[in-house]
Amino acid sequence: MTQRKVTRDELLAYVKSQIKEIDVQGLKRWLEQGPPPRVVDIRERDEFEQGFIPGAKFIPRGHLELQIEDYEPDRETPIVLYCAGGVRSALAAKALQDMGYQHVYSLAGGFSAWKHAGLPFDVPRKMTDEQRIRYSRHMLIPEVGEEGQWKLLDAKVLLIGAGGLGSPAAMYLAAAGVGTLGIVDYDVVDLSNLQRQILHGVEDIGRAKVESARETLASINPDVRVIAHNTPLNSENVMEIIRDYDIVVNGSDNFPTRYLINDACVMAGKPLVDGSIFQFEGQVTVYKADEGPCYRCLFPTPPPPGEVPSCAEGGVLGVLPGVVGCLQAVEAIKLILGLGHPLIGRLLLYDALSAEFHEVRLRKNPRCPVCGENPTITELIDYEEFCGVPLPRRDGAAQHAQPLLETV
Ligand SMILES: [Zn+2]
Repeated sequence: MTQRKVTRDELLAYVKSQIKEIDVQGLKRWLEQGPPPRVVDIRERDEFEQGFIPGAKFIPRGHLELQIEDYEPDRETPIVLYCAGGVRSALAAKALQDMGYQHVYSLAGGFSAWKHAGLPFDVPRKMTDEQRIRYSRHMLIPEVGEEGQWKLLDAKVLLIGAGGLGSPAAMYLAAAGVGTLGIVDYDVVDLSNLQRQILHGVEDIGRAKVESARETLASINPDVRVIAHNTPLNSENVMEIIRDYDIVVNGSDNFPTRYLINDACVMAGKPLVDGSIFQFEGQVTVYKADEGPCYRCLFPTPPPPGEVPSCAEGGVLGVLPGVVGCLQAVEAIKLILGLGHPLIGRLLLYDALSAEFHEVRLRKNPRCPVCGENPTITELIDYEEFCGVPLPRRDGAAQHAQPLLETV
């Protein structure tokens, strides 16, 4: 027995008799009027990179049957497939129909017809070969992927301080490919910093921290643009400095800055990833005024001078800011990628000695002076530097945490 040969043209004629086609004007109207169908570009990567129909999902023909269910498991959803000229997509449409997809269309004339009709198309951004390798472990995570990596590369994060918290946060954000990192710090590197501020080394002693930070971050990832703000933060410059950033990561060790940056972030509508450390205890939370409390919801006014010790007086275990700064970096990345549950309205407490994490719920205070219903603070305030006063030794961490716990 010999099987009858089917020519290419006969196969195509048969397939086209079995599937539905749509022309480019029909697809254009459908996309405009909605609800839009799923549009899948089944060409090869080099073709896709020349341009694609806006909103189309790229799944090369060879992967189509294997990946379509991840993209659209519902067999009732309309799907339009396109290739360059409408032949490969006709064959692909038949394959999806055979998988049970009820409303599959092949775009007649394909992308060429779309382009020749003068309809709009997008050109995908292309990572360099080096970027593909550098970020491969991110892009292997389905929830991140190439799309997520572009979000990171496009993100702009401002770090307040290049010290204990800012060091690990900046280094991991840079390694992750967060494209723009601003650093506000007016300090110079001191030998006593090196116990925890891992951005800096012995050869940096005496240099501006922002310059030392810039060099370290460039050596980790040259993709990252580091913007140095070598200036003290105050009510005059804070709005201007934070304006261009998406997220602020607070690593400051003093209360005037903590209040100033909180108020500025509320006023500018920026999420603030806050961290603090004392001796063996650390705290992390995310203040996002439209979704949860701000710092002043918990502490409406600064403590009296001398109430709370700073690192210089109280001391801190060198690795502790590493833990807390890394948690801050994770929260910033989650906000950028829109993944998971950020620490909004939740304070995470870490006790290094017991190796325990606790979580405390934080509520928004409707009477908050800055983010409440009738805010009384509508201008930025420069508080006096009241934390530098030497203190008698006391259980500072407990003092610090106590008012927070009382608010829940
Ligand atoms: Zn508030």
